[in-house]
Amino acid sequence: MMGVPLNKQQRKEGCLIMTILGIIAIIGLILFIMVEPKEPKVNVDKEKTTYILKEYYTPAEIVIIDSCEYLYLSEGHAIVLTHKGNCKNCKTKTQ
Ligand SMILES: [Zn+2]
Repeated sequence: MMGVPLNKQQRKEGCLIMTILGIIAIIGLILFIMVEPKEPKVNVDKEKTTYILKEYYTPAEIVIIDSCEYLYLSEGHAIVLTHKGNCKNCKTKTQ
């Protein structure tokens, strides 16, 4: 495809547009680097158990959230987090 030859003014405008786009790209890159999310701070403890469920090969773990114990299972895309039921915290509340 043959384009229409550009005159001096059009070339100047093209150059200006490319410069502006370049500056915008650099600003965007700087913002992307500055706003990059930091790794979240872990604030929940996990304890290993010997409980192994039928479809899970890795043992369940106990996760403690606000002093309540939850059973945590994770394998592949499946995640289970359920209240342990007889957790230490709930036992002391009912006594
Ligand atoms: Zn509980």
